[in-house]
Amino acid sequence: MEYFDLIKKYNYEQVSIIQNKKAKLFAIDAIHDTTRGPAVGGTRFMKYKSEEDALIDALKLSRAMTYKNAAAGLTCGGGKTVIMDIEGMDRKLAFQTVGRFIESLRGRRFTGRDLGVSTDDIDLMRTETKWVADETAAGVGNLSEATAFGVLQGIRACLAEAHGDDSLERRHIAVQGVGEVGYWVVKYARENGAKVTIADINKKAIEKAAKEFPVTVVAPDQIYGVDCDIFSPCALGGIINSETVKKFKCKVIAGSANNALATNEDGIALFQRGILYATDYIVNAGALIQWWYRQKAFKVKDRIDARDAISNLYNVIRSILKESKEKKLAPFIVADQYAESKLKKEKTYVDLNWGYGR
Ligand code: NAD
Repeated sequence: MEYFDLIKKYNYEQVSIIQNKKAKLFAIDAIHDTTRGPAVGGTRFMKYKSEEDALIDALKLSRAMTYKNAAAGLTCGGGKTVIMDIEGMDRKLAFQTVGRFIESLRGRRFTGRDLGVSTDDIDLMRTETKWVADETAAGVGNLSEATAFGVLQGIRACLAEAHGDDSLERRHIAVQGVGEVGYWVVKYARENGAKVTIADINKKAIEKAAKEFPVTVVAPDQIYGVDCDIFSPCALGGIINSETVKKFKCKVIAGSANNALATNEDGIALFQRGILYATDYIVNAGALIQWWYRQKAFKVKDRIDARDAISNLYNVIRSILKESKEKKLAPFIVADQYAESKLKKEKTYVDLNWGYGR
């Protein structure tokens, strides 16, 4: 019953179960909201303790996609598919079955790769449906770099709010995780004249960054306490928590890590400490934005230059921080309100104009 309460409370449009006994497939697809356009969001493959856990994940993630897409100004809604990793599954038939289900939605749902899903899995889905993202399509570009470019906008917007000057010149940034995105954050920070400190648990990632850029390296558990202006979490979620929140010496936190705040209380604690936090799902939308505007699979209303759209994250974060200060509300709360307002005001999904090939 509690699941039905959740579905009703947050107004999910459609929640479907996809089963294929022969394939040992049990998957859930959630379409949260298509007010602004097709429900865009990846397909995840992972072990869940129970069907209920998979359902909760699909519900949470699809709603998060609605907020992310709306805040990024994209004319699409939010959805997510989760496939339970079950022993003995016929992976080929399973992904094809999910592909057939996505096709049956005739473009109301558009999916792509998420955790645990390979490009081979996507190719299997593509044998059944055209409503699957092609990340490698010509012209889409480097999506991790696009994410880092969005993070840079968030950092600059926070600096402007904190100091009245958005320059990174002579600022000190501590980057946690120098993988796909973190590497580019370091590169941008250096190009903009910042001093950089990094940490990573992967030696190779450290070596790559340290070889290319003049950086200081600290141990992974030391990165939170670095005396710096900006902390950029580009590794894991949940790293702003009751333990770490006391350690930060920075004025700004902006990075790509999804769900960086362990709990809402931690977001409030940051706010009370006067640390400006650029909401993760807004500043890490660069890859999504770039893919959305550059892919040719289906029509996008008001197609604009992807880099301009990512640059606009600067203005979004600035207005959220301004409102946060005025209303005395933590920025992550204002960010949710901002995304929700986009769902109310902007009813862009009026026809099937975004349809494939039309
Ligand atoms: P990645 O796996 O390439 O890089 C993450 C790096 O963090 C790795 O080098 C890893 O060794 C390091 N790391 C892991 N645990 C650590 C720890 N405890 N301390 C220090 N370093 C640690 O991943 P990525 O693609 O760069 O993504 C980073 C984060 O950004 C993830 O949370 C991801 O979900 C999010 N994100 C990425 C994109 C994208 O375009 N790649 C888009 C949106 C959000």
